[in-house]
Amino acid sequence: MLKIAVIGAGVSGLSVASLLAKAGHKVSVFEKNQRIREVGAGIQISPNGFCVLKEIGLSKKVIQTSICNKSILICDYQNGQKLLQFDQSSVLGKENFRLLHRADLINLLYRSAVSNKVSFNLGYTADAKSLRDQYSFVIGADGVHSTTRSLLNPQQSKNRRSDYFAWRSVVPNKFNHHSGVRLTIAPNKHIVSYPVRGSDQLNLVLIQESENDEIFEWSRKEKPENIKNLFSEFGGDLGDALKSVETVHKWGLSSQDIPSNWAIDNIFLIGDALHPMLPFLAQGANSALEDAFILAKLITFHEPSKAAEKYIEIRKPRLLRLMKAIKNNAWKFHLEHSLFRIGAHSGLSLLDKTFPQSANLPFRWLYNYDVTNLNI
Ligand SMILES: Cc1cc2nc3c(=O)[nH]c(=O)nc-3n(C[C@H](O)[C@H](O)[C@H](O)COP(=O)(O)OP(=O)(O)OC[C@H]3O[C@@H](n4cnc5c(N)ncnc54)[C@H](O)[C@@H]3O)c2cc1C
Repeated sequence: MLKIAVIGAGVSGLSVASLLAKAGHKVSVFEKNQRIREVGAGIQISPNGFCVLKEIGLSKKVIQTSICNKSILICDYQNGQKLLQFDQSSVLGKENFRLLHRADLINLLYRSAVSNKVSFNLGYTADAKSLRDQYSFVIGADGVHSTTRSLLNPQQSKNRRSDYFAWRSVVPNKFNHHSGVRLTIAPNKHIVSYPVRGSDQLNLVLIQESENDEIFEWSRKEKPENIKNLFSEFGGDLGDALKSVETVHKWGLSSQDIPSNWAIDNIFLIGDALHPMLPFLAQGANSALEDAFILAKLITFHEPSKAAEKYIEIRKPRLLRLMKAIKNNAWKFHLEHSLFRIGAHSGLSLLDKTFPQSANLPFRWLYNYDVTNLNI
């Protein structure tokens, strides 16, 4: 049994803590906030993340608390006209792509950690340097502005601005939204919407491409009028949904190359602390779940230097491929020039009429990866 410290109680910290405690270790989580909390927004858990939740023992509860993402719908912004719709459940497993409220996911992960006897130190801003001598391992799960990453990578510590802003809000779902993720694309902007909490609520993620020289700590409250004006060109039922926004938060999205040092001695990075990524494939938390499973196994079976070596060997190729796919998606969503847009929209509509299921093919490597089947 090892004594392990985890810094941060987000998806990565809570999941790795639960998995390590289930493996018999004594785990302490340090969280700087006084309470375990999440923003009011939705989250997509794709099959590659869901298999880790299953391993934690949460599959039933997650299914009860979430909605199955049956199909992806891509629409134009002006009047919400459908461009392409493709079924996902038949390709990815009937129950494995879930849409839920973040607070519900965090609550389930927290309760699982507590029931596995993880101890929590809330309101405690931890630093890995001062914990490293007291614990066999210290895991930096301290998010996008990780001080653990800076400690391990003093040369690469700065976050870079990304030229994207995101706003998140949850509104009443009065709009007969289909049971799945809808992507509504516009020049330099897109909106991702999907139902959560028994379809009573609609999660909205609004993304705008724009010079972004404000890197702020995490999110800021935004005046609803500002986003109603900024996204006023969106019509159809989504335009109506935007009118009902009452609370909204804004993020200046930052991005960062994967750092050189993933681990030094007994200090390891995980989740956004290791690989902050733009949300264009909704993979930050799913990747954090994959990291958590692998790291928990490696720590249990190997001494620190071997665990670090294998961690990079297993995770790096997949993370680099993911980062590349995210970059490719970013520009496709936001086509500005009308000729390119007309061409792309005609292509999507043609695909919709001929072989819509083929739209799943480019992402099978991403979603159909089951980390729990790896021989670690
Ligand atoms: C608009 C948007 C939409 C997204 N949608 C999706 C999606 O649908 N699916 C998906 O998989 N991902 C999505 N993501 C990404 C996902 O939210 C993140 O990747 C994920 O939440 C990261 O979890 P984490 O635990 O690594 O970090 P965090 O959730 O940031 O948790 C870090 C924790 O560490 C704590 N902390 C920080 N420093 C210290 C310290 N020194 N001491 C103690 N505690 C500390 C913080 O308070 C925090 O609680 C989205 C992101 C954005 C911006």
